[in-house]
Amino acid sequence: MTRLNSFNDLFIFELKDLYSAETQLMDALPKISEAASDQQLKNSFSNHLDETRKQKERLEQIGKDLNVDLSGETCEAMNGLIKEGEEIINLKADDIVKDAALIAAAQRVEHYEMAGYGTVRNYAKRLGHDEIAELLEETLNEEKEADSKLNEVAITHINAEAEYA
Ligand code: ZN
Ligand code: FE
Ligand code: FE
Ligand code: FE
Repeated sequence: MTRLNSFNDLFIFELKDLYSAETQLMDALPKISEAASDQQLKNSFSNHLDETRKQKERLEQIGKDLNVDLSGETCEAMNGLIKEGEEIINLKADDIVKDAALIAAAQRVEHYEMAGYGTVRNYAKRLGHDEIAELLEETLNEEKEADSKLNEVAITHINAEAEYA
């Protein structure tokens, strides 16, 4: 059982959780992208896979800067969110209805990441790690952008097409 002896320990603990989350997403996003039918939606997922790779690398860089290994923890929440995503992938459904459901699952993932990165960005600032805070904020902004892109795809056409499927 991990014991957190300081605010810095909590910072590392939260970074490890995010490292696990991004690692799990590297496996999950290609499957989600493959399950999507709409081309614009597929593109959003594969763009975000590229970003996810960079985000994982950013965390590795942060681990190096702090001289800690961020691997070895499991983010159980991301594990659960991905399980729900897999449930949707395996559903029998009209293509466009499935696309709407994939967006619902993916936006949950982005919101979870936004919460996590907002927290560690604040911790990094507090602890005087200004450059690390900037790296974490870059990722935070990508997660927000991914979420709003998904929202836009949903409201500009997927939801409407799904309604009449
Ligand atoms: Zn469409
Ligand atoms: Fe991410
Ligand atoms: Fe977690
Ligand atoms: Fe993300």
